[in-house]
Amino acid sequence: MATAVRCENMNHRRTDAPVAHCPQCGNVVNASKRYAHCPEDAHARARREGSVFCVHCGTRLIAR
Ligand SMILES: [Zn+2]
Ligand SMILES: [Zn+2]
Repeated sequence: MATAVRCENMNHRRTDAPVAHCPQCGNVVNASKRYAHCPEDAHARARREGSVFCVHCGTRLIAR
């Protein structure tokens, strides 16, 4: 597993990030905030805002 995070998102530098996953790279930034399931409208909203990954469950929202 790669340990080097090439991601500019500020959540990686926080010790208590407000979200479970980084919206840009999908890596876990705060495991205690993880959701098992998200409502589909939450994913639709995040997608419109340009998040590549869901910050709650880590699901990829935008296909490469
Ligand atoms: Zn990231
Ligand atoms: Zn989600």
